[in-house]
Amino acid sequence: MSLPSVQLIAIGNPEIKILGELSKIVGHEFAVPVNLRTIYMDLNPYFDPTRKQYNGNVLLREIDLNFGNDDTKTIGLFAVDLFIPILTYIFGQAYLNGRSGIASAYRLRNERYGLPGDDEVLKQRFSKEIIHELGHAYGLIHCHTPRCVMQSSTYVEDIDQKKTALCNDCREKLGLVTIKPG
Ligand SMILES: [Zn+2]
Ligand SMILES: [Zn+2]
Repeated sequence: MSLPSVQLIAIGNPEIKILGELSKIVGHEFAVPVNLRTIYMDLNPYFDPTRKQYNGNVLLREIDLNFGNDDTKTIGLFAVDLFIPILTYIFGQAYLNGRSGIASAYRLRNERYGLPGDDEVLKQRFSKEIIHELGHAYGLIHCHTPRCVMQSSTYVEDIDQKKTALCNDCREKLGLVTIKPG
């Protein structure tokens, strides 16, 4: 039995150049078809002027309401800085075993850390983040296997420590073919 397919909704042109490649990496990891759509959405209502960030809880709900459907896992991709009230920022979040999630490239760009831009690095980080949120949507909780993409990440360095892939334990939980550690 295969997993539900994936729908990626790109909002506000997050890294348009690499979106196609991202879709391929994500689809390959879960062995599902990926549908990529770029849409326009006014993000002003979600901006918190005090924090100068965008409300990740409201945006997740909005993505789910507008684009969510029961046969697929939908992830909204953003270019803006996301927060939830209890954290200073989030890379993304998803409903556990739900149908929707969100992820942002905002804090994944080298430029944010005073380094030269690097599309390859950005692609790696963003695909890990999207795969991680999809993992939650497919029902996976955080994993403690070293380098598994389902490990939780607080800083961008944590993301860099992880592989772009699920560990065999996580793959087994999803009914995916396990692969030899390499
Ligand atoms: Zn997580
Ligand atoms: Zn794992």
